Amino acid sequence: IPVDPFDLVIFGGTGDLAQRKILPALFRRHCAGQLTGAERIIGAARTDLSNAEYRTIVAEAVRVNAGAKACSGGALAAFLERISYVALDALGEAGWQELSRQLRPAGEAPVRMFYFSVGPGLFGPLAEKLHSHGLANADTRIVVEKPFGRDLVSARELNRTLASHFDEGQIYRIDHYLGKETVQNLMAVRFGNMLFEPLWNSQYVDHIQITVAETVGVEGREEYYERAGAMRDMMQNHLMQLLCLIAMEPPAKFDPDAVRDEKLKVIRALDPVEPHHIVRGQYQARLDPSDPHPSYRGLVCNPRSSTESYVALKAHISNWRWAGTPFYLRTGKRLVNRSSVINVMFKDAPHSIFGAEAGRHANHLKIRLQPNEGITLSVTIKEPGQGGMRLVDVPLDMSFAEALGPEGGDPPDAYERLIMDVVRGNQTLFMRGDEVEAAWAWTDPLIAGWKSRGDVPKPYESGSTGPGDADLLMRRDGREWRGIN
Ligand code: NAD
Repeated sequence: IPVDPFDLVIFGGTGDLAQRKILPALFRRHCAGQLTGAERIIGAARTDLSNAEYRTIVAEAVRVNAGAKACSGGALAAFLERISYVALDALGEAGWQELSRQLRPAGEAPVRMFYFSVGPGLFGPLAEKLHSHGLANADTRIVVEKPFGRDLVSARELNRTLASHFDEGQIYRIDHYLGKETVQNLMAVRFGNMLFEPLWNSQYVDHIQITVAETVGVEGREEYYERAGAMRDMMQNHLMQLLCLIAMEPPAKFDPDAVRDEKLKVIRALDPVEPHHIVRGQYQARLDPSDPHPSYRGLVCNPRSSTESYVALKAHISNWRWAGTPFYLRTGKRLVNRSSVINVMFKDAPHSIFGAEAGRHANHLKIRLQPNEGITLSVTIKEPGQGGMRLVDVPLDMSFAEALGPEGGDPPDAYERLIMDVVRGNQTLFMRGDEVEAAWAWTDPLIAGWKSRGDVPKPYESGSTGPGDADLLMRRDGREWRGIN
């Protein structure tokens, strides 16, 4: 569906994120016919570049990152027609008049968007500059990247600064996890089916596991990561967002504030986490000498670093639906596989009519966010062919790619979906200011706790499943992590 003509300014238009994600996403939407012809995309960054030089950068970014489905040379040429560049300093006066000259009046481009793809220290100055140069009006939208603050105080401060120039309805705080097809499918599965929701509570669910495992380390982001760690970089935003979607009450309708109100209630109902329910880890080099990757400490050149590259914790939500059902969350770098998965582990049947030899079996719903997006429900059946009544678990497996077939097409990348939602003015998949603050209010004491205890992260080998203590966290409760695969 074509969208309204827009002018999009990408602050940080020469940066890594712009080149790897934002520009390729826009190109793919262009190829999909969603840009109707009049859209303009203006890169803005500090480097001095001509339009032609910037277009060369954009062409290369698209060629490398737009994926196998990148369309013909003609399409790229047409896309580049939309692109221009302004050299500009977010902290100074250079370039702002030129930017103002390039933007069209509201009549020609009803939607005006500014994407803040720069370091978080520039979010406030950019908002102020947009106002002092008269570039923002009531219909202007700003897109703000993560990290949104590094604690409650800084997030509040940032919210206050943005709020002094923009209404909440104009601010799009991006968490690209929310743009993933399967994450949206979480809501469809829960609230579009009768099958799951009646069982979706502590009476039937034993526990829930959320895993976001990465094989990459922190190369290229050393300075930022050393100050952030897995808790700030992943847990406070991506994993908490997944937790909210899995645990929230059904909103009355699928509209931005109804959904975000319910997510906020989940965060506010989270209990503080007991110190012995958190495990922090830090990756070591592999024992295999053929693996060239250094340890975390080697990479950040800090032999005493106590920043965690892994965190696992057990959380409780104190409300009627979830009291008594623990949520186990873990995320880490340099793990054995790249995998984002949610496992909903149902309770055993209350009584086995088949006797002890049939074994105990419980249903298990596995929601794979990546790779191979899809859902598997394990169902217990009779083991075929045996004389006795022995039970066995079999998967009811649905891969979204297979189920939707070739006509389903390639699902759009998260950034494609989210940028188009900004054009449409739909904030459902963006975090509201109070949500972000509530998430920091929950994570701040955990970070302060391990700081005051002088906690040192547990070492784990690169390419493993994480520190052994994370397994203990589960085993102490008579449970185990479902494999990272
Ligand atoms: P980057 O360092 O690669 O790019 C920064 C950009 O900002 C460059 O274009 C640079 O010219 C511009 N810039 C810096 N100072 C400026 C100034 N004073 N005035 C105007 N422009 C200025 O950073 P990045 O990796 O692209 O990240 C951008 C933002 O996105 C950061 O907030 C980062 O945390 C966030 N983010 C990045 C990724 C990623 O994969 N790269 C993922 C998630 C979030």
